[in-house]
Amino acid sequence: MRKTVYFIEGDGIGPEIWQAARPVLDRALETAYQGKHGIEWVELLAGEKAFNEPGEYLPEKTLEALRNAELAIKGPLSTPVSGGFRSLNGTLRQVLDLYACIRPVKYYKGIESPLKRPELVDMVVFRENTEDVYAGIEWAANSPEARKVAEFLRNEMQADIVPEAAIGIKPITEKGSKRLIRKAIEYALDKNRPNVTLVHKGNIMKYTEGAFRNWGYELAEQEFSGQTITEDQFSAGRKGLVIKDRIADAMFQQVLLKPELYSVIATTNLNGDYLSDALAAQVGGLGLAPGVNMSDTLAFFEATHGTAPSYAGKDLVNPGSLILSGAMLLEHAGWEKASQLVHTAVENVIVSKKVTQDLARQIQGSTRVGCREFGELVGMHLG
Ligand code: NAD
Repeated sequence: MRKTVYFIEGDGIGPEIWQAARPVLDRALETAYQGKHGIEWVELLAGEKAFNEPGEYLPEKTLEALRNAELAIKGPLSTPVSGGFRSLNGTLRQVLDLYACIRPVKYYKGIESPLKRPELVDMVVFRENTEDVYAGIEWAANSPEARKVAEFLRNEMQADIVPEAAIGIKPITEKGSKRLIRKAIEYALDKNRPNVTLVHKGNIMKYTEGAFRNWGYELAEQEFSGQTITEDQFSAGRKGLVIKDRIADAMFQQVLLKPELYSVIATTNLNGDYLSDALAAQVGGLGLAPGVNMSDTLAFFEATHGTAPSYAGKDLVNPGSLILSGAMLLEHAGWEKASQLVHTAVENVIVSKKVTQDLARQIQGSTRVGCREFGELVGMHLG
C-alpha cells in the first residue's frame, strides 16, 4: 500500500537533514516489504522557502493540505522576524489543533550518558500542547492591560496582587486535559506499556494542575475501567495498566533515580516541555530526540531541535532526530518492521563510532562524519 506523506523541509539545517533522512525511510520500507508498501511524498512550502516563492511564511495552500492530511513530517522552522507570527510552529499547532506533543525517550547504545544505567530509560512523554501558561495570554509589567487585570483581580476577586505585576494566565480545561490523557492511555494499552503517570503540580496549583490529575483518574475510570488499575490495586496483585500520578518536582528525581518505574507520562504543557528535554539529556542528547504533534486526524512528525542557523549548509549536523521521527511515522502508519529496521540501523551506526560532530564529542575514539554521510551509513545498515 502507498500512503501520502506531506513534508516541509524547514529552514536553516532543515534541508540537509531532510535530504539525509528521506532516503533512509524509503529504503527501510523497500527492505522490509520489497515494494509492497511505500510513501508518496508531497512537498508543502513553509518558512523561508515559502517566503521566497509564494511570498508568505505559511501559505494557505499548505494549511489547507495539512487540514486534510493524516501524515506529515517537517524539519525545523525559524521564527520570522516580521510577518506577524509569534512562531510558525506555534501557529501550526494552533491552527491544526495539534494538541498532543509526543516524545519517546530511549537510550541508544554507544552514547555517553550522565546516568549509570541509561538503558533503563524507556519512556514516552505526552505533553498537552494547547493550554497552560503557554497559551500566550500574558501582559507585560506596567502595561495598561496588566494594570487593568490586576485592578480587576484586586477589586473583584480580593486577590493580593500589586498593580505593577506582569501577568500570565494559565487556562487548563477538562476537555483539553482528558483528550491528551485519553491519547496516552490508548497508546499505553495499544503498545502493552505497564503504566501511565499523570505529572502535575497539583499540590500548589490545585484548580489547574490538580484538576488535570483528577480528570485523568476520572477518565481512566469512565472510559477504561476494565483495563486500568490504581497503584493500590497493583500492589494488591491485580493486573492491568497502572494509572498513577506524581508531583512534577518529585518526578524529576524519580526519572533520574528509578527510571524503570515509568513508562508513559501524561502531563501539562510547561511540565512536559521541561521533562521531555531533561529526559532527552539523560540518555545523551537532544540531537537524537524525535517527536510528533497530533490532532484527532493528523500526525505531524518533526525534528525536536531548531534550525541551528550557524551550522546551515555546512554538512556538519546530526540528521538523527529527523530520521528517528521518520521511524515513528513508519510505526504510526502500521509499518513496524520498517520502523524497527531504522532504530536498529541508527544504533548500529552509533556503535560503529562513525558519527556527526555533536556525538563525536561524546564518544571516545569515534570518527567524525558529515550529515549526508551519517544518513548514508544508516541507509547501508538497513540491510
Ligand atoms: P537550535 O536547536 O536550532 O540550536 C541550538 C544548538 O543545538 C545549535 O547551535 C547546535 O549546537 C545544536 N543542534 C541543534 N540541532 C542539531 C543537530 N541536528 N545536530 C547537531 N547539533 C544540533 O535552537 P535555537 O538556536 O534556540 O533556535 C534556532 C531557531 O530555531 C530559532 O529561530 C527558533 O525559533 C527555531 N526553533 C524551531 C523549532 C522547530 O521548528 N520545531 C524548535 C526550536 C527552535
